[in-house]
Amino acid sequence: MSQLFGRYGLPLDVKYCKKCTINNQRPSASIAYKNTKDESKRSISFGDDGICEACKWAEIKKDINWEDRKKELETLCNKYRRDDGRYDVLVPGSGGKDSVRAAHELKYNYGMNPLLVTWPPQLMTEMGRRNMDAWLDSGFACYTVTPNQKLHRLLSRLSFENLCHPFQPFTLGQNHAPMYLSTLLDIPLVMYGENGAEYGENIKQNEKPTHDESYYSSNAGLDELFLGGVSVQEIINKYDFSLADLKPYLPVNPYDIERTGTQMHFLGYYLKWHPQEEYYYSVENTDFLPNNARTEGSYSKYSSIDDKFDWLNLYTTHIKFGIGRATYDSAQEVRNGDITREEGISLIRRFDGEYPTLYLEDCCNYMGITVERFDEVIEEFRTPHLWEKDESGQWRLKYPIWEGR
Ligand SMILES: [Zn+2]
Repeated sequence: MSQLFGRYGLPLDVKYCKKCTINNQRPSASIAYKNTKDESKRSISFGDDGICEACKWAEIKKDINWEDRKKELETLCNKYRRDDGRYDVLVPGSGGKDSVRAAHELKYNYGMNPLLVTWPPQLMTEMGRRNMDAWLDSGFACYTVTPNQKLHRLLSRLSFENLCHPFQPFTLGQNHAPMYLSTLLDIPLVMYGENGAEYGENIKQNEKPTHDESYYSSNAGLDELFLGGVSVQEIINKYDFSLADLKPYLPVNPYDIERTGTQMHFLGYYLKWHPQEEYYYSVENTDFLPNNARTEGSYSKYSSIDDKFDWLNLYTTHIKFGIGRATYDSAQEVRNGDITREEGISLIRRFDGEYPTLYLEDCCNYMGITVERFDEVIEEFRTPHLWEKDESGQWRLKYPIWEGR
């Protein structure tokens, strides 16, 4: 029998969704604190009709009765609303368009008292700073969980060198720190904006408003939890950090979750979410501003612009899965009917996988590596079944979308 799966457990037979621009190499979000170097990933599944889960979900969404969902949200808010001077809902975010809308809706349309929780970007862009300020200026208080920066730099380097995933420390904190804070502050309701599942996770996830507890809670031992591909026990022993420093990155103890009654909800379950409209909502209701130029690697100006590491992160996904920033942006916009598939393909051809020069040096300095080392790691993780060299010795995708697969 011939081999079906290659590096990272990705299917060797590369296919593109017939409706949008995503390919079947796109991994679903896995449980981050279990990520090790050699693990296999579950990737987005395609039906026999050649259509991806995310597109299927976009269709199902059209039949959802959003008026009923709004009532469900009202009921949820009534259950948690407090008028005794305490905050009643945590909204994680850092001033991006989704978190702006979530906080604004809850406060001004549902009468809640949201407290923002920010796990700051690894290296905030100027635009990110400005949008964060605009968010606070629109009437919110915020608790910022700033991790030990010596540790954060180390984890960024380990995540990059071991997993080619320099963004992992941000993701871990973004998922775990608000849940940890929920238990510390006794605010059980935590409301995120959209559910990543809409973009190709297991679509069963979208049928309920909450996220599985296993994403943010575990009683695994320190040698079973991994950050940057290294066990927590090893980070403590080898690099001399304390467990207290590592806490905000780690899943929360199930006992604490139960005691507080902590639940992670997605506002995207209750209210119709549409990235371009979230952007307009943010502009209308706060001073949110898009980037002043197109984003390197894509054509868009408003998504993932607050962290300099976003640029690196979406370059690494192009190397590992053949999916860069323009693919992610266009897949979503095709699905939402903002652009056609053909327009998406020509944008991908033009911009996807552009080398992330803009912030590369800043990010390398942050991780304590040289740009040469960056390039070396990138080559180590280039997926062989996706890439080949052309006559001039330049890497090119073996099966690009514009060659009609
Ligand atoms: Zn699709």
